[in-house]
Amino acid sequence: MPLRVGVIGAGMIGQEHTRRLTTVVIGAEVVAVTDLAADRAGLLAAEAGARPHASGAEVVARPDVDAVLVTSWGPTHAEYVLAAVAAGKPVFCEKPLATDAADCLRILQAETAHGRRLVQVGFMRRYDDAYRRLKRLVDAGDIGAPLIVHCAHRNPTVPVSYTSEMAMLDTAIHEVDVLRWLLDEEIVSAQVLTPRPTRRRFDHLQDPQLMLFETSGGVRVDVEVFVNCQYGYDIRCEVVGETGVARLPDPARPAVRQDGREGVAVVTDWRERFGDAFDAEIQAWVDAASAGTATGPSAWDGYAATAVGDATVEALKTGETVPVDMEPRPSFYSGAQQ
Ligand code: NAP
Repeated sequence: MPLRVGVIGAGMIGQEHTRRLTTVVIGAEVVAVTDLAADRAGLLAAEAGARPHASGAEVVARPDVDAVLVTSWGPTHAEYVLAAVAAGKPVFCEKPLATDAADCLRILQAETAHGRRLVQVGFMRRYDDAYRRLKRLVDAGDIGAPLIVHCAHRNPTVPVSYTSEMAMLDTAIHEVDVLRWLLDEEIVSAQVLTPRPTRRRFDHLQDPQLMLFETSGGVRVDVEVFVNCQYGYDIRCEVVGETGVARLPDPARPAVRQDGREGVAVVTDWRERFGDAFDAEIQAWVDAASAGTATGPSAWDGYAATAVGDATVEALKTGETVPVDMEPRPSFYSGAQQ
């Protein structure tokens, strides 16, 4: 029998994941949908052949919902994840796990008390083929011990509602997770440098930002976040090791020769860059949830990303290097990283 999924949040990514669950992924069906906007829930439910519901609580409580997908607004995530864990149901939660570290800790406690992993957090880069190949190379010791990592996260433009804090909390949160995974180390401090801002931005927005992180093993990381770069969606990562340098490959695109020039088109949309990773991520979730558990980025990873996010936002405000304040990792969350 397919995994019967209840979707909480029928906005942009909720619609994407519902389409994925119904047309791409094997072994799942969407049976329930809710959203603050009843008409949006109704439309998506009709598309998926599911029933619309008035609230997330109703979706979690429905006996024939086997697993829950949380794609609502970030500040609502903790409530729904806690409800799913209390009901013993596997739950996929889009990032962030929670907007507040204390809520993340409540989720860790609830899942630990349950005794089996139920939570997967939506850090899809771990399922991206290029990042996975980079990690295999680093893990194999091909470039020796990593010493420095240079990263960039560039978007063509962002809407006027985007704030300076979102550069960390919405954007660099993916870098933070993938760096922890790639290096298998925690990030222990954050600093943010603020270069001359681009004139192609809104007055309230510091863009670009240069985030500097240090890991528990002393690796230094710089992350350029430039969300009005104009030219494309460009994700870069280069690991400098003791004996060599390994770099994330660019997405494969044909080179075109025309009018006396040769060129390769740059990806401009994050859905195109990470579409396959999203598919693999949701398939992995369905596979694990069908067995009553979860794999991949854990509630601990969600907590760590939120804790680093808090330190980075403070670093942006103060200009200081801010230590990351984190509880020790419970043994429940030790073991192989996905
Ligand atoms: P969105 O388009 O605004 O969709 C969020 C939806 O949730 C909206 O329809 C919203 O309704 C609804 N909602 C808000 N509170 C709710 C509640 N209490 N119960 C039920 N529904 C509720 O946002 P989005 O871009 O899809 O983002 C959703 C989440 O996914 C965010 O946490 C975001 O960070 C994450 N995300 C992750 C990635 C990734 O790369 N992994 C990419 C995009 C988004 P209203 O509009 O009426 O408030």
